[in-house]
Amino acid sequence: MNIRYCRFCNASLQDIFVDLGVSPLANSYLTQAQLGQMEPFYPLRAYVCNRCFLVQLDEFESPDHIFSSYAYFSSYSDTWLQHARMYTEMIVKRFGLDGQGQVIEIASNDGYLLQYFIARGIPVLGIEPAVNVATVAIEKGIPTLIEFFGENLARRLVTGGTQADLVVGNNVLAHVPRLNDFVSGLKLLLKPRGLITLEFPHLLRLMSENQFDTIYHEHLSYFSFITVEKIFAAHGLVLFDVEELPTHGGSLRVYACHAEDHSKGVGSRVVALRAREEAAGFTRIDTYVSYAEQVKEAKRKILAFLIAAKREGKSIVGYGAPAKGNTLLNYCGVRSDFIDYTVDRSPHKQGLFLPGTRIPIYHPDRIKETRPHYLLILPWNLRDEITEQMGNIRQWGGQFVVPIPEVKVIT
Ligand SMILES: [Zn+2]
Repeated sequence: MNIRYCRFCNASLQDIFVDLGVSPLANSYLTQAQLGQMEPFYPLRAYVCNRCFLVQLDEFESPDHIFSSYAYFSSYSDTWLQHARMYTEMIVKRFGLDGQGQVIEIASNDGYLLQYFIARGIPVLGIEPAVNVATVAIEKGIPTLIEFFGENLARRLVTGGTQADLVVGNNVLAHVPRLNDFVSGLKLLLKPRGLITLEFPHLLRLMSENQFDTIYHEHLSYFSFITVEKIFAAHGLVLFDVEELPTHGGSLRVYACHAEDHSKGVGSRVVALRAREEAAGFTRIDTYVSYAEQVKEAKRKILAFLIAAKREGKSIVGYGAPAKGNTLLNYCGVRSDFIDYTVDRSPHKQGLFLPGTRIPIYHPDRIKETRPHYLLILPWNLRDEITEQMGNIRQWGGQFVVPIPEVKVIT
């Protein structure tokens, strides 16, 4: 067996957090022509480091392969756009950003966030390795470098005279294979009095709310606050504030500055969250290794629901084609034997098939044509948005089902 080492602290990895079997890459949607071909499956097994408690996956595919063409366009989610607009308003006010400040976003996607800074006359630069989404941003007039971020790029930018007053990274930290290279790049890029905000799903919520489906190959690391704090400290950065957000089932937004910058005192929310994680057992290995049993039970409950529904002659369709849905369906072994099809608002996914399970993806209009009994909400983090948008299924007695934290019919 290969010896694995922690992506952050280099300790050898011996403890399994959860084993989800084998699964295809969650964002490799298939075309009709690919249905007749074989598909690569990879182990989906998360380890936890017994020294720094970073939960992490092996890297199977180079980020080049995963991210050079990316099916996720941030601007297709209303909730996410609203989140981006509110963030801009808050951060500009709190830190007094104006036309003199430089904002740099890492993984800037299609410009869903930077557009709001541009509207306020604040200079921006996006960094986005996926050509297809970056191109959309550039066409919208958002300056974007089509590259991966790390120490190298940071050094080149600094040499060229670009440093940031604000560095933003939303849902990128989990994707980074060379974590130390990435964080040391942040340190370089930041002006002496600048700040960094990063958002990432919170491991505490993943565990307490059973969100095992947020584990997929593209997410290489899963962070608690205390582990992120250690990683940043190792690179001369301090987390001076933290917020808990409802996004993606429960995320953290951490605020970082240079360790040498004493203008921003460490806030009470940092102290409180650190204490809460310690109380939840996050500094003990047994807390992590006991998680796997909870995941197996969630699978049994989902299957029990689907089997009972099919025995009663009910039709079930999916809503959404998110990466997390692919983990869930592949781990549970659910294909079109249970779920007739799914729908997605993004035209980039319509007409394709889910990886592994090969469930077809249609336009949402299909639902009112086929009038299914159950609509299984795969992006359960958007359940409020979706139950509102799709409320008309109630006209024919249709019901919503969420799989996480526990399979449940919403009445
Ligand atoms: Zn470690």
